Order: sequence, then structure tokens, then C-alpha cells
Amino acid sequence: MASITLKDIAHSYTGESENPDDFALKKLNLTWRDGGAYALLGPSGCGKTTLLNIISGLLTPTRGQVLFNDKDVTGLPTQERNIAQIFQFPVIYDTMTVFENLAFPLKNRGRKKTEIEPRVIELATMLGLENELHTKAQHLTADAKQKISLGRGLIRKSVNAILFDEPLTVIDPQLKWELRSQLKFLHKQFAFTMIYVTHDQTEALTFADEVIVMYEGEIVQVGTPEALFERPEHTFVGYFIGSPGMNILPCKLQEKNNIQVEGQTITLDKKYARIDPTAKIELGIRPEYLDLAPPGKGGLPARILRVDDIGRHKIVRVALGSRELNVVVSELTGMTGDETSLLVDTSHANLYINDHLISGEEL
Ligand code: ADP
Ligand code: MG
Repeated sequence: MASITLKDIAHSYTGESENPDDFALKKLNLTWRDGGAYALLGPSGCGKTTLLNIISGLLTPTRGQVLFNDKDVTGLPTQERNIAQIFQFPVIYDTMTVFENLAFPLKNRGRKKTEIEPRVIELATMLGLENELHTKAQHLTADAKQKISLGRGLIRKSVNAILFDEPLTVIDPQLKWELRSQLKFLHKQFAFTMIYVTHDQTEALTFADEVIVMYEGEIVQVGTPEALFERPEHTFVGYFIGSPGMNILPCKLQEKNNIQVEGQTITLDKKYARIDPTAKIELGIRPEYLDLAPPGKGGLPARILRVDDIGRHKIVRVALGSRELNVVVSELTGMTGDETSLLVDTSHANLYINDHLISGEEL
């Protein structure tokens, strides 16, 4: 196994170019620790597959280097990188049995039958395929075929890393949970370096110790699930993580720790240096850190537009001046009409300049 370093990697599908818009991946630098469980999270088209293919060697990057430990593998073909890659759709041999499909990566490398057989049975059992070992793959459901794909990716214990490219897309939702926890278990057991690509935040947050969030060909944050929630470093992360996402409101910095949102003043817990007046300044506050009180009880006068009861709590859509935001509350007490007062937990307020988090100074 190896740590994987991407050094000044950039990729354009049309070759070297002066135009940054030609690059599906902008310049990025990142090290994946040996044995880490990572999720690569971002919307469709942001460059996740491109990045995986650069690691596995299916693509040669337009710029930069790929290092395994300290060895430059940028020019090495896939076969010499010793990486297992699992794709969105099953890649298996239809005319082979489940056993033969699973055994293939080992057989191909000249391993002995006495080594292959127990390993195949072990994995088949883990994936719930043990009763179908001698069935031809073509007779199986899409779910089962994808399980075979997973098994083929996991069968070799000596790989440098296992890359999963949205592997559970075709899997039934209930099975998804099961497979995901098995992958997590496998990671704990064998300490493979695993990179799991998904556009689904729940999948990313449950699988990974560390999440890499991508947006438009760039890495916008690398962090623990908690850091992504509490301190999104980019407005996109705030909006993309959480359900509903972070409220992002244009504001003006008046002085030090006072901001103005929709003509109303909010006093923050931190002070900020003077900011270029032409910059875009925004307040980021999660729905969980807002609350509502009856009108006139302090806070900012606002109006309730809609209440969605989603079981344990309610998501309230509120208008603050011309802006709309989401507030998560457990109860709406003492409010009869649609007038309300918006309470902001300023210890969880984040300030963004041109979409990037800025840290203030303690008062
Ligand atoms: P993701 O996996 O996050 O959905 P991709 O890495 O597949 O994103 O794609 C990133 C960008 O590169 C997209 O704009 C996509 O259209 C483009 N792209 C992907 N593959 C190719 C290709 N083979 N040729 C040209 N452009 C591509
Ligand atoms: Mg993709």
C-alpha cells in the first residue's frame, strides 16, 4: 500500500491550453495518506472521475505529477500501478460464474488455487453471493452484478489503493446501507487506502474519515465531516453539505464586528479587518443555528412563509427583507400569525469574502 500525492495536477481533455476554461481539473495538490478512508464529494461534472482516472493511470494528466510514496508514476500504465478501480456500472464477464469472476484478478496474477479459493469464498460470503458462486453472471440482477464488481476490486489484499467511482448508483437503497457498512468494515480490517467518489453527502459522510469536496474542477475543502458542517471554507461547501444547506446572505461589514443584512444590524462574536468595499461579502449561517421567537422578543423582524414538518423537527421558510432563508426549529411556540423574530446564534456565524471563509479575530 502507498500514500498517493498529486503534485500540481491539472487536466484538459483538449490538451495543453492557455485558457483556464479548457481545464476539467484546475491546479490541485493533495496527499492521500496510506490506509486512509476518503470520500471525494461534488456535483456531477466537477471532475471526480477525471481525478480518479489520473490516480489509476487511465488518464495521463496534462500537467503535474502523481507520486506513490515518493515514486513518480505519472508515466506508468494502469497495470503497473497496482490499483483496484470499481466503476459506476458493473464491469464483469457475463459468461463466467460468480466464482470465476471473483477469482479472475488473482488467477491472472498466477496465484495458487489454495490461495484463491478461500479468498473468493470469504468475499462472496461478505457480499451475500455465497449461494450463487456457480451461477453465470448473466443470470443475475443488476445489484448482484455490481456486488461482483465490488468483490473483484476487493479481492487482492496487496493493492496500493482501491478507488470506487459512485459504485452504489445502481444498487437498491436498502442494500446501499448494508454494502457501505461492509466497505467501512473492510477498511478497518485491512486498512486499504480507499477513495470513494460520490455526489451524495450522506454516503460521503458515513464512509469517510476525511472528505474532499470538489467544485468546478477545484478542491474547495478537505476536512472531517464535522469541519465541513461547522466551518465550510467555501460558500459552495456550506450550501452543498447539510439538509437544507447553509443560508448565505449578502451583507455589508459596517465596522469591526457589525454587519448589515437587509438593512438590519447583526453583531458578530468576532471582529474583522476592513474589507475591500468592492468585494462580495456574505454571511453564512446554518438553519440549525437560527431560531424563531414571537415578534418583539429581540432578534430580527421576519416573516414566516412556509412550515414543513419533517418529523423530529420543522423546517421554516422565512423572509428577512427581500431574502429567504431556512430555519430548523423543534417547535413553533407563541406565534399565531406570520410575524416572527429571527434569532441568530452568532457563535456559529461565518463570514465569506468572494465565496471564501475569512477568519475574524476574537474580541
Ligand atoms: P464527475 O465525475 O465529477 O461527474 P468528470 O470528471 O466526469 O466529472 O467530468 C469533468 C468535466 O470533464 C466535465 O465537464 C465533463 O464534461 C468533462 N469530460 C469528462 N470526460 C471527458 C472526455 N472524455 N472528453 C472531454 N471532456 C470530458
Ligand atoms: Mg463521474
